[in-house]
Amino acid sequence: MRAGFIGLGTMGAKMAARLQTAGYRLVVHDLRREAAAPHLAAGAAWAGTPREVAEAAEVVFTSLPAPADVEAVALGEDGLGAGMPPGAAYFDLSTNSPALVRRIHAAFAARGIHMLDAPVSGGPRGAASGRLAIWVGGEKAVFDRYRPLLEAIGDQARYVGAIGSGTVAKLVHNCLGYTLNRALAEVFTMGVKAGIDPLTLWETVRQGALGRMRTFDGLINHFLPAIYDPPAFALRLAHKDVSLATDLGRELRVPMPMANLALDELTTALNRGWGERDSRAAMLLQQERAGVHIAVDSGELREALKRGSGGNT
Ligand code: NAD
Repeated sequence: MRAGFIGLGTMGAKMAARLQTAGYRLVVHDLRREAAAPHLAAGAAWAGTPREVAEAAEVVFTSLPAPADVEAVALGEDGLGAGMPPGAAYFDLSTNSPALVRRIHAAFAARGIHMLDAPVSGGPRGAASGRLAIWVGGEKAVFDRYRPLLEAIGDQARYVGAIGSGTVAKLVHNCLGYTLNRALAEVFTMGVKAGIDPLTLWETVRQGALGRMRTFDGLINHFLPAIYDPPAFALRLAHKDVSLATDLGRELRVPMPMANLALDELTTALNRGWGERDSRAAMLLQQERAGVHIAVDSGELREALKRGSGGNT
C-alpha cells in the first residue's frame, strides 16, 4: 500500500518517518521541498502538489499548521479532492476547526472519498517515539481498516465518534492545558513571592493529592458519576482553603484572577446551601450555565477504568 503524507514539519516529519520505519511506502509533499529530503533518502517518492499525492496513494495524511492550510490542501485547485479516487481515505492529523473538517468530510463524501479528523497529542517527542494519542472522528469502518497505519504513528489511536469528534476532544484537551497553565502560573507566583524556592515548591506539591494524580482522574469520583454526597472533602473546607490562598495573594499583591474566579464559584455553591456536600459540587454550577447534565453510569465508568491503565481513584 502507498500512503501519502503532506506537511513534513515539526510533527509531520516524525510521523511520516515512523510510517516509513514500519515499512509503508510513502509519497510526500510539503511547500518546503527541502523538508522532504530525509524521507526521499529513506525511499519515499516526491509529489509536486497535493493532487499528485492523492493520485499516487490509497490513503493520505496531512499535518498542517492551521485550518486555512488544510482547506487549501484538501479543497484547493490541485488539492486532494481533485485527485483522490472514490473509496480512498484521508486522515487530517492537524488540529483543525470542527466546522471545516465537517465541511471537507461532506464535500469528499459526495464523491465517495472518506475523510476523518485525527488530531494528535504528545508533542514532537511523542511523534518521534510513538507515545502519541490520535483521536479519530468519522467512519468507524475506515478507522478500523487503517488502524495498523495509525498504530505505526502512535500507541494510543482511539475512535471517538462521528466526524469532528476527534477535533472536539483535542480542543477540550488543549484548552484545559492552557487554562491549567494560567492557574499554575498564578499559584506558583504566589508561592514564590511568599518566599518558597520554586524548585522546592515544585518538588513538594508534586507529591500532594493533585501531584500524584493523572490530570483527568480528578473527574472519576464525583463529577463523572454525579456523586457529591457524602463529601470526600466538604465544600465549606475547600472554600476556606481557597479563601486563605487568595487572601495571601492579596497580601502579597499577586494578581490571581483564576483563583478568585474559583473562589467565587465556591462561594456561589456555598450560597446554594451545599457547604456539607463534596467540594466538587461547585462544578454543577457550570453544568447549569452550559445546560449540560453529566452523570455517567458507575458500572460503565468502572469498565472504562479497567480498559484504561487504571488511575488513582
Ligand atoms: P509546522 O509548522 O512545524 O509544520 C507544518 C508543515 O506544513 C511545514 O513543513 C509547512 O511547510 C507545511 N505546510 C504548510 N502549508 C502547506 C501547504 N499548503 N502545503 C503543503 N505543506 C504545507 O507545524 P507542526 O508543529 O508540525 O504542527 C502541525 C499540526 O499539528 C498543527 O495543526 C498543530 O496544531 C498540530 N500539533 C502540533 C504539536 C506540536 O507540539 N508541534 C502537537 C500536537 C499537534
